[in-house]
Amino acid sequence: MTTATLTAGHTHQVENQPPVLENYNAYTSDIALQEAVRREGAGWSEDTLKECGQVLGSPDTIKLGFEANENPPRFKSHDHLGHRIDEVEFHPAYHALHTLSRQYGLHAQPWNDPKPGAHVLRAAKGYMMNQVEASHCCPVTMTYASVPLLRDYPELANKWLPLITNAHYDPRNLPVEQKRGATLGMAVTEKQGGSDVYQNSTQARAIGQSGSGQAYELIGHKFFVSGCMSDAFTMLAKTDKGLSCFLVPRWKEDGTKNLFEIQRLKNKMGNIANATAEVELRGAMGWLIGEEGKGLNTILKAIAYNRFDCIHGSAAGMRQAVVQAIHHCQNRFAFGKKLSMQPLMQNVLADLVIESEAATAYAFRMARALDEVENNKEVQYFIRLGTALGKYWICKRVAGHAYEAMECIGGSGAMEGHMMPRLYREAPINAIWEGSGNVQALDAVNSFFSNDKIKKAFMDELALAKGKHPLFDEFLVKLSKELENTHQLEFRARSLTAHMALALQASILLTSQNTLIANAFCVSRLSNQDHHLYGNLPTDIDCSAIIARASIATKKD
Ligand SMILES: Cc1cc2nc3c(=O)[nH]c(=O)nc-3n(C[C@H](O)[C@H](O)[C@H](O)COP(=O)(O)OP(=O)(O)OC[C@H]3O[C@@H](n4cnc5c(N)ncnc54)[C@H](O)[C@@H]3O)c2cc1C
Repeated sequence: MTTATLTAGHTHQVENQPPVLENYNAYTSDIALQEAVRREGAGWSEDTLKECGQVLGSPDTIKLGFEANENPPRFKSHDHLGHRIDEVEFHPAYHALHTLSRQYGLHAQPWNDPKPGAHVLRAAKGYMMNQVEASHCCPVTMTYASVPLLRDYPELANKWLPLITNAHYDPRNLPVEQKRGATLGMAVTEKQGGSDVYQNSTQARAIGQSGSGQAYELIGHKFFVSGCMSDAFTMLAKTDKGLSCFLVPRWKEDGTKNLFEIQRLKNKMGNIANATAEVELRGAMGWLIGEEGKGLNTILKAIAYNRFDCIHGSAAGMRQAVVQAIHHCQNRFAFGKKLSMQPLMQNVLADLVIESEAATAYAFRMARALDEVENNKEVQYFIRLGTALGKYWICKRVAGHAYEAMECIGGSGAMEGHMMPRLYREAPINAIWEGSGNVQALDAVNSFFSNDKIKKAFMDELALAKGKHPLFDEFLVKLSKELENTHQLEFRARSLTAHMALALQASILLTSQNTLIANAFCVSRLSNQDHHLYGNLPTDIDCSAIIARASIATKKD
């Protein structure tokens, strides 16, 4: 309707607005994901991934993500008769998302069906699911990560693992003996110290016999307990011998409620659908896992897998942000051209794609390492440093990436009906939990400098890309010099970690046969002094080709 044809009551037609991005196959529309899956050893799973991608790009599934977040969980401490119940009520969409994730095996598939590519397949499904809704993925991750920890302790594993690893999502608040499936959380952080877990004040003492698998009583508190309706939690508490790891169920074996009382739910800025609680342990019963005094080492086994999920979850956040930005710009005209054809917007979009692809390639290289370590324990050294570097770098890069993608969409990108505000609010979370940025950087530097096997595994991986790009070779020389300097390592930890992560990202891209992205990454990230904000790519990069690679053609397009 032109201005000339407007009549009273008809002020305008809605024009020049893109269709909602939905009704696409989240797998077949994602070239970088498909390449990563094939490259890292899960090409055999593509039929499954295509089916999964169809469901996860459908309007009905995308809607679940909105509903679960627009209707946050609500805590009920008591029932109407005054009984303490510690219930959290969720919107049905939250449960529907959990049911899907469980069906897809995000909680346990590589443990149930271990084979080369199993972790890569799970990562690919998780990568697509995180794009639909990230916050329910937190308890799914903690459930998945509990398996490699618990399986070493048959006294607990025999009872719990069959319930943790099966395909049933059962959200009922009942003793686990009456349930079809179980979900696990992890509660470490206390008020006086999160990173510095040695400050934990929660006390534990054996009720009868002491030792792994025996019952202890825990008195204290936990300040952040996500997935707080889980059936049990791995927890740290102090015995006379020091920090120890426990499995604390919500219900005791005699069918009574464990003394695990939710005080309130956190009022979070992001990760809204996931219920994170403050909890009092008023003599809660928990079984010791492993040795007393060795709790941190014990629980780190699970934390390593949580950290991996932070990496691929953040890569997923970047992917969804960039496809939203590209989709908008391909369907919006300004100053006589599609926004996606405006040279400066092409510079920004292509730069966002490069970041997203580098994060994705990194995440899937790490997923392959998780597959390989099942049969080759030496791979643990690469995983140790690769996880710390990726958890630091990719989980940090995602926040700026989300902001820039939002700006590509303009004002509508900041409106709540759009996916973008949720991606933006989710973006900083992975960097904070499971070891915040500084803690990761210190961990990366400590592990590199304290363990020659870790150093060698890292340098061997970088050596695979030597000679593939002159800027990479130059960067390696500079990095090697930086790493020879052991002066003020703590103070320099962020810069060393960032440079190591960049080198690893570049080497993964350079060995992935993707010359377009690998070259663009090297010229924009390894030598370009201007790369403080997105949209500062050198002029000889083929932005159109990079954007085309990442764009989704929906049915409505
Ligand atoms: C949404 C959400 C859900 C969460 N869910 C859970 C959960 O389910 N279970 C759980 O146990 N925890 C959970 N957490 C807590 C999270 O793990 C902690 O917030 C995190 O570990 C940091 O601890 P803190 O908040 O006590 O900060 P602090 O430990 O006080 O750290 C503050 C800052 O200081 C930095 N820092 C610490 N030490 C050093 C150092 N030596 N040098 C330089 N800098 C340093 C840190 O990197 C951080 O940036 C959750 C957090 C969030 C945001």
